[in-house]
Amino acid sequence: MLHITLPPEMTRPAVRQVFAALEAAGGAGCVRFVGGCVRDMIMGRAPGDFDLSTQLTPDETEAALSAASIRHVPTGKAFGTITALVGGEPFEITSLREDVETDGRRAVVSYTTDWTRDAQRRDFYLNALYADVRGEVFDPTGQGLADARAGRVRFIGDAETRIREDYLRILRFFRFSASHGSTLDEPSLNACVALKAGIDGLSGERLQQELFKLLGVADPAAVVRRMIETGVMPHVLGGLHVKASVFSAAIALTTDVIQRLIALIDGDGLVAETFPDVAQRLRLPNRVADRLTQAAAAYPEARIATGEATLRRGLYRHGRQALSDALSLRAAEAGLTAKEWQRFDASLRMIDVPIFPLKSSRLIAAGLKAGPELGQALRRIEADWVAHDFSSIVIEAAIDDIAKRTNI
Ligand code: ATP
Ligand code: MG
Repeated sequence: MLHITLPPEMTRPAVRQVFAALEAAGGAGCVRFVGGCVRDMIMGRAPGDFDLSTQLTPDETEAALSAASIRHVPTGKAFGTITALVGGEPFEITSLREDVETDGRRAVVSYTTDWTRDAQRRDFYLNALYADVRGEVFDPTGQGLADARAGRVRFIGDAETRIREDYLRILRFFRFSASHGSTLDEPSLNACVALKAGIDGLSGERLQQELFKLLGVADPAAVVRRMIETGVMPHVLGGLHVKASVFSAAIALTTDVIQRLIALIDGDGLVAETFPDVAQRLRLPNRVADRLTQAAAAYPEARIATGEATLRRGLYRHGRQALSDALSLRAAEAGLTAKEWQRFDASLRMIDVPIFPLKSSRLIAAGLKAGPELGQALRRIEADWVAHDFSSIVIEAAIDDIAKRTNI
């Protein structure tokens, strides 16, 4: 048995409160940290969220939290998860379960008090570690600690069987290999590649969530390259065939997951026609789909090697986000170093986006009548003003001209 000193985040009052509430109902040891936070602690990393597992059933968990006056929400009660809220901070508490039946997408669950059965339904050995609040670490599969220490991501049990239960595990394999793996485990990789077509049946939402997590890993380039080489990636991107080179270059330049996604789905230059298909397959929210479309619109005239006037014009026409997204892709294509890109991006941020100062009321005062001509005149003057680097002289000259023509 391994006993360790827990980092302070894991013994905070909020955490102790949740443990105390559940142990009051189920006895000492009925609740443990599980998954990511234990794995990360063993690997010497800062844990993200603190997931808990308990021998109590979801009903018993709710009752125990209520008895201790801890707010809770049945966020995933059908799968055994109740979320406790302490001072606004969420803690997901999942009852020990085994998956009795699976159809590749969702499981029919039954609850258990057996930690080993709960461990066995989890995806990878290094994700099936538990720890109690006193610092006792539990490794029911007997392989999790060794794998965590070695940075090895391996399916628990027979890889193909485990993937057929839930094809999302293919993506999770690549994601955790990118974030926590030293190499790709060959048998697990082979099983993922053999069963890659199963990804097609996954919902866009689950796919999107995992893909974004993968793109958010510090350096997913090597793993993404393998996903492309092995033909897994087209199944994630709704049939789109992509190349790895621009993506690898983009990883060094940006940590923004949307910019990384843009670099991933970039064909030879940004092909806007493919975006709607990808957006639909991944059920991208409108604001993300719009960002892709706007980046594609800004891309043709976006240039790294250009002067301030051209950049200002791009900013005015396409907006800061779209131009910056398009330029980040150009920078990756051009092979800029991170330093060069940062310097360029900083100078871009120094440029103000002008606001067109002319109102139609001024044109009316100069003698134009309200109507289609007024709109046409406004647009013509605006285009002229943009073309002359936003010079107000252009506007004044145009107004003089109108006044002369209309004899006011
Ligand atoms: P992260 O740091 O990304 O949150 P995590 O390990 O906590 O990593 P989650 O997606 O939050 O990952 O899942 C929590 C735990 O639940 C995992 O560690 C794993 O044990 C289990 N798990 C999650 N999804 C699956 C799945 N599809 N199949 C099997 N086990 C899973
Ligand atoms: Mg987690």
